[in-house]
Amino acid sequence: MPTLLYVPTPLRSHVGQRDAVEVTGTTVREAIDDLLARYESLRTHLYDENGRLRRFINVYVNDEDIRYLQREATPLAEGDTISLVPSVAGGSPEAVTASVPLPELTPAEFARYNRHVILPEVGVDGQRRLKASRVLCVGAGGLGSPASLYLAAAGVGHIGLVDFDVVDVSNLQRQVLFSTEQIGVSKLEAARARLGGLNPEIEIATHAERLTSDNAFRLFEGYDLILDGTDNFATRYLVNDACVLLGIPNVYGSIFRFEGQASVFATRGGPCYRCLYPEPPPPGLIPSCAEGGVFGVLPGIVGTIQATEAIKLLTGVGEPLIGRFLVYDALRMRFRELTLRRDPECPVCGDRPTITSLVDYEQFCGAPAPAAAPETPPAAARIVDDLETTVESLKARLDRGDEFLLLDVREPHELQICRIDAPGGLHVPMGEIPRRHGELDRSKDLIVYCRSGQRSGRVVGFLRQQGFDRAVNLKGGVLEWIDRIDPSQPKY
Ligand SMILES: [Zn+2]
Repeated sequence: MPTLLYVPTPLRSHVGQRDAVEVTGTTVREAIDDLLARYESLRTHLYDENGRLRRFINVYVNDEDIRYLQREATPLAEGDTISLVPSVAGGSPEAVTASVPLPELTPAEFARYNRHVILPEVGVDGQRRLKASRVLCVGAGGLGSPASLYLAAAGVGHIGLVDFDVVDVSNLQRQVLFSTEQIGVSKLEAARARLGGLNPEIEIATHAERLTSDNAFRLFEGYDLILDGTDNFATRYLVNDACVLLGIPNVYGSIFRFEGQASVFATRGGPCYRCLYPEPPPPGLIPSCAEGGVFGVLPGIVGTIQATEAIKLLTGVGEPLIGRFLVYDALRMRFRELTLRRDPECPVCGDRPTITSLVDYEQFCGAPAPAAAPETPPAAARIVDDLETTVESLKARLDRGDEFLLLDVREPHELQICRIDAPGGLHVPMGEIPRRHGELDRSKDLIVYCRSGQRSGRVVGFLRQQGFDRAVNLKGGVLEWIDRIDPSQPKY
């Protein structure tokens, strides 16, 4: 009896880019075994060395988590579907701002918010609640752009933004908060101008710092809601834990290629991100958006869903996404909803929490979050100095005719944009390295590169663990090669 098994975007490269595969089996275990019999390279992504399902993969039968069924022994019936949900980066609601004294609306505000005020579900009181409310957007990027625009337009009285980036030309494909003439300008400054122009009635607070364990409590304190628009695991776990510990709801969204996720975490009695994923995937198994690409409209959809949930929570209308995990596939134009429960064993929101203060999230996630200031390199970066080489050194070796292997770990379509030509040139995409590293010659010097040096850095870390003592990372990747050695090629 065939069962349809949905494959999430990050794992589709292992199944010929299909989004669903027909598998057979009378239980979940049999169905997954059937899948792995045909797509062996998926095994290391789904199971750990002890043959246990990895903790950052959740398996659902229809809309139910198998941890609440019979786990892998869960029987399958005709018409059932299985979903693999890897981490990528419930109740009648009471308005989050219920206890706050509500400010009056001015005549100008009545005029501006007319279409809200005449909705019985929002009304004058709902609009006054929005005016009294305070929302912090962590990240002014793809998700923070539409979210902050709609929150500002809706009249959320105080919007905070945390970001430390400047507007880059590659942001404009999806970060609709910014314009071409703002390239090079701080995102916070650009956002303040745009949001203030959209709605001068509201306050905008900007926090030009990277969110860390040291400043999270200070930054979050006093906000009614946190809107998580981060793009890396370290910050996502930090946002989650700080929200749980402070008792502030976390409106979560994440995006990868064509797939988005959204939910509401850390409400009283509701689940948190760690109930779903107690720990992050090891670095390298799931690529980030900068490496994997993102469909420009996708953050528009997911960020707008986050704004919708925020406004519903603030006004107390509708059914929030608490206890529900929404998965959106833009290519199939399909929304799926999975049930989520608070896990009594959850390390942060469970009955006997083991996490009672903020930890070192970069270490916990195994990879540093993007650095705010390059002049203070983290300890880890200094240690890896001998694991790196420069584009100048690579050029010198090529000119001398040295013998070495040059391994490109980018995806095939990236090679069509630009590349480094070398006699010892090889191409193995990062996702295939765990399966194919046996093809590489350990006795030769091995220089690994990707677009910017991030993916290849992880590959070198992995290869060193496998005994490739002569593997080094090309610092700055092909982008730096183009900047300093071969400006004739296009960058991306
Ligand atoms: Zn939890």
